[in-house]
Amino acid sequence: MASSDQLPKNYDFAEVEERWRGTWRDEDYYFDKNSKKPQYVIDTPPPYPTGNFHIGNALNWCYIDFFARYKRMKGYNVMFPQGWDCHGLPTEVKVEELNHITKNDVSREEFRRMCHELTAKNISLMRITLRKMAFSVDWSNEYITMMPEYFGKTQLSFLRMQKAGYIYQSEHPVNFCIRCETAIAFAEVAYDDRETQLNYFDFDGVEIATTRPELLAACVAVAVHPADERYHHLKDKKMKVPLFGHDVPVVQDEAVDPAFGSGAVMICTFGDKQDVHWWKQHNLALRKAIDRQGIMTDIAGKYKGLNTSACRAAILADMKSRNILKRQEKLAQRVGTCWRCKTPIEILSERQWFVKIKPDEIQKAAHEITWYPEHMLRRMENWVEQMEWDWCISRQRIFATPIPVWFCAKCGEMITPDEKDLPVDPTLVQPKQPCKKCGSTEFSGESDVLDTWMDSSISVLKVTGWDGSGKPPYFPAQIRPQGHDIIRTWAFYTILRSVALTGQKPWEEILVNGMVLGEDGFKMSKSRGNIIVPEEILGKYGADALRQWAAMGAATGSDIMFNWNDVVAASRFQTKMWNIAKFALIQLEKEGYDPHAPVTALADRWLLVRLSDTIQQVSEAMEGYQFDTALKAIREFAWEVLADNYIELVKGRLYTGEASRKSALLVLHTAFDALCKMLAPFTPYFAEECYSHLHKGASVHKQPWLSFTYDDESARSEGNLRVQLVSEVRKYKHDSGLALNAPLGRVTIYAPHTVDDEGDTGRTLNAEVHWRTDAAKLDRVITGIDFNRAIIGPVFRKQAQAFINAVAALPQNQLENPPKTILLEGTEVEIPKDAFAPKFSYMEGGAKVDVITVGDVIVTIAKA
Ligand SMILES: [Zn+2]
Ligand SMILES: [Zn+2]
Repeated sequence: MASSDQLPKNYDFAEVEERWRGTWRDEDYYFDKNSKKPQYVIDTPPPYPTGNFHIGNALNWCYIDFFARYKRMKGYNVMFPQGWDCHGLPTEVKVEELNHITKNDVSREEFRRMCHELTAKNISLMRITLRKMAFSVDWSNEYITMMPEYFGKTQLSFLRMQKAGYIYQSEHPVNFCIRCETAIAFAEVAYDDRETQLNYFDFDGVEIATTRPELLAACVAVAVHPADERYHHLKDKKMKVPLFGHDVPVVQDEAVDPAFGSGAVMICTFGDKQDVHWWKQHNLALRKAIDRQGIMTDIAGKYKGLNTSACRAAILADMKSRNILKRQEKLAQRVGTCWRCKTPIEILSERQWFVKIKPDEIQKAAHEITWYPEHMLRRMENWVEQMEWDWCISRQRIFATPIPVWFCAKCGEMITPDEKDLPVDPTLVQPKQPCKKCGSTEFSGESDVLDTWMDSSISVLKVTGWDGSGKPPYFPAQIRPQGHDIIRTWAFYTILRSVALTGQKPWEEILVNGMVLGEDGFKMSKSRGNIIVPEEILGKYGADALRQWAAMGAATGSDIMFNWNDVVAASRFQTKMWNIAKFALIQLEKEGYDPHAPVTALADRWLLVRLSDTIQQVSEAMEGYQFDTALKAIREFAWEVLADNYIELVKGRLYTGEASRKSALLVLHTAFDALCKMLAPFTPYFAEECYSHLHKGASVHKQPWLSFTYDDESARSEGNLRVQLVSEVRKYKHDSGLALNAPLGRVTIYAPHTVDDEGDTGRTLNAEVHWRTDAAKLDRVITGIDFNRAIIGPVFRKQAQAFINAVAALPQNQLENPPKTILLEGTEVEIPKDAFAPKFSYMEGGAKVDVITVGDVIVTIAKA
């Protein structure tokens, strides 16, 4: 360790961060299964391995690391696992792009292998960023959802829920992305505002308006309001669908709006959710006009083989030529789209697997969890309340967890594997036993795979040690940190699955973070060019500065705008702190400090009180996950209380070696030690660097959180007053053009009572300071007059100077209380309002002094 006076002048974050990264050991952050400490298990979000750990991830992980480090210091056995949510379409698409293939060009196995390889490479890239950011991840609890040991658990959870009646398969309308060629869940439907065309056409004598003429082939009924007299004659009648010619029933339904268009609507399978509702309600036929690729089917007749937009154009053209298209108008519309690729979704009726949603169960568990911020619970409640369909969990893709199910080729019986044989890919292996029902040994494996949320929604079960044999040893977890954008997906599914598999809530608390917006206040996107990547910030200012930005940018839960200025300010704070550190270390090294030295001086007691206040404030903020409040309090203490005031007050005492030097050294040591500890969760590198100098190589990350308290009300109020006095007098010096260390002469302070400050005030001001409790005896004299020429000029014109002379000649008492009129060149004239003001000076004991007042304290200064 270098001697303190050899400390580098400037704080070199790049050197320091790299050095500590090379020193710290992963084992120090492992969760200890044999520990007697209370557990604190974090259900960390597993990011999608794109290869880039983005700024939104960084914010989320900063929050996690702040409280993970804090809780360790508070004596918890912390688990901060790192997962990777691998499966899904984006990787499939990337693999197709990179290898110039489509998924059908190679075998399923080969395609899966390629996805695997790309994912593994991306994970290793993202691990590097995680390490640079100094996240105290427990790498012994890393999990990767594409690995057999993880997806085996996903399959186990599937079988358990299937046996418990939560999972079933059925033909049911589902949201379907025809580009991704897969079903998607409701939670994966995004909404886009678009403009479309509303087409009015003649439907067997009734005018009907539709935005989707291409669904005419799928028309299964016409609906009217039961009270709509215009259509009473159609009751129980059939109508002929134009262009296609099939007959459909007329149904009556309260949900039809008689004021919309003609008041008659067509029901198709399926134009939207309302169609699905009517279709069920009225037991209508099913006509599938669009297939999984978005191509018109056989029932579309001459339009078969067209895609939906070509079909729409062709049908509108045919309507025109038959003269049944009446008119068209523009209509603003919210269209459901695939959240991954933005293609408008279709509602297709498909055989799919579903998870039953039991809203009451989920609401109950959600209410047993403490939400930070509290209002985020409302979002969950709203989502559960509007739940209409069960969760569709089957996907028609490849890179995902296989659904562990076979069907008997002869009798159709469903066969599931033994739990001990998991994981299985039913498309590659066969059941070990013949069909129990018919004895056949021919099976077809389910080729559908599971929604990736089926993987990630058991992350909490995985990290708490679930193996299917009862309650997992570390369940429930203490906290789930996540973004507000995935409340209706990840949070919702996790609660659902935990309740279904364990009967309990998954976590005690959930901490919801906001989104990171670009510097322009908009969501970051390639097209706006406002994307900021963590690696860029790390290169320019280092991890500690980026982490400070994350803490200070906004209150927890609020969206946070990225701002380079905040990062620069964070880096400046480190520079300031480094200067404080150097000063403190040099002073402490000179003589060493005595931990038992009596703390006597006012400034010292004051600093300890302020430190105690700060520690309490920071601890409370950390308990409530209010990181901005915590770091703000730390910065204010370091910068304003310690550096700008305390150190200025005691510098002289430290340099001159007064008797109470030991008191100041002890206080300086205490404050600096506490600052390192309070900063440890926020700026782990910087805090470690400072602390290792202070404690000769010890690590701040192995220290307990502060329990220091110091109560001394008079030191707080007297000290605050003293600090204010000093700062006012220093301001006076500055305003009078004096250097801050220039000798000031005699300063007399008239205060209600005095406290011995061991000469700190005098040394700091470089003045001879006298404290007095009697009243100041000051004589006020007028030493000049300020004339207001802007008033005098226009009123007196040529006589202005004469007026000034006349005023100047007034006796002192008249200057203080001016008469209404004055004699000017023989004439009595009125004195205009605000024409002049006397300038006062004060005399104390016959000498001229300057006077400053601070509250009820009077300070007189007789300059040297
Ligand atoms: Zn899609
Ligand atoms: Zn069978």
